[in-house]
Amino acid sequence: MAGAVGLFISIVLHEITHALIARRYDMPIAGITLFIFGGVAELHKEPTSAKAEFLVAIGGPIASMVLGTVLLVVASVGPDVLSPAAFGVVSYLGDLNWILALFNLVPAFPLDGGRVFRAGLWGWMDDFARATRIAAGAGEFFGIAMILYGILEFVTGNAIAGVWLFFIGFFLHGAAGAARQDLALRRTFAGLPVSVLMQRNPIGVAPDLSIADLIEHYFYRYYFKAFPVLRDHELVGCIMANDVRNLPPGDRTRVRVADVMRPCSPEIVIPPDLEALEALIKMQGGRHSRLLVVEEGRLHGVLALSDMLQYLLLKQELGGNIRDSSLSASKTPGTSTTGAAGAARPYQAAP
Ligand SMILES: [Zn+2]
Repeated sequence: MAGAVGLFISIVLHEITHALIARRYDMPIAGITLFIFGGVAELHKEPTSAKAEFLVAIGGPIASMVLGTVLLVVASVGPDVLSPAAFGVVSYLGDLNWILALFNLVPAFPLDGGRVFRAGLWGWMDDFARATRIAAGAGEFFGIAMILYGILEFVTGNAIAGVWLFFIGFFLHGAAGAARQDLALRRTFAGLPVSVLMQRNPIGVAPDLSIADLIEHYFYRYYFKAFPVLRDHELVGCIMANDVRNLPPGDRTRVRVADVMRPCSPEIVIPPDLEALEALIKMQGGRHSRLLVVEEGRLHGVLALSDMLQYLLLKQELGGNIRDSSLSASKTPGTSTTGAAGAARPYQAAP
């Protein structure tokens, strides 16, 4: 039990070191998640510079090494001085902190070592997006290698180690892929106002529409779960499938939208100049796939998750390839690199 509690404290100290350094470099930590494979400090913003990323990433493993060394020095006085049980716990935790440090230093993004690797590439190439793609590729490579090694261990009789390696590799591969997707989302939607992506003539319903007509001509026609209620383009409320579900069929021709509608939840209302990335985070947080773009009480449009995903796919088909091929083609001396630098800039936080 002492060993389990010590392991927990060791991981917390590792993550808190990350968080304290991140805070010093103006990268607020949204939270620290502890789970069976260790801890993850969730960065809310992209790192502000290669140096900051390097220091934040290396801090955790250094904390683990210092703690591991201190514990091993304590253990070195031997079981006779410490008592056998205390000696066992202290030397176990000493070894464990070193394993934690060394495992996290594997250059596989998003592990700490992968972040150190990305910071190095970023400083060297001055291209955050490319550095992330390469580091995430290394993360996926190490993930697959661990899965294969885990299977080998399992087959050759070392079942427990094999299963662990398999799951850690699986997790690492998924996390590296997620980091790559996260970059694509940021690259596409950071700095882009929602007014560019929204549908400009959103479908709204009139307050005096009957519920029967609402169901037949709106819910069963457009398959949306909610509609904005408009009076002369002014947003007066929202009506959802939930709101009309319990209404007896006999009442549906008599009751009007205005009788059952409710004020639109602030969770689904956004201003037109909001960054599309922020809107996406809002959709994820509230599990809404459509947001109302409202300014001074008037509905300007509707932002749909499906449109954002279509935009992302198109952007990757059109923009990504062109930019990549022009990058590799323009590697002659004297060629301006403003294209690449300009492409990288949106991910760097504003000064
Ligand atoms: Zn770490």
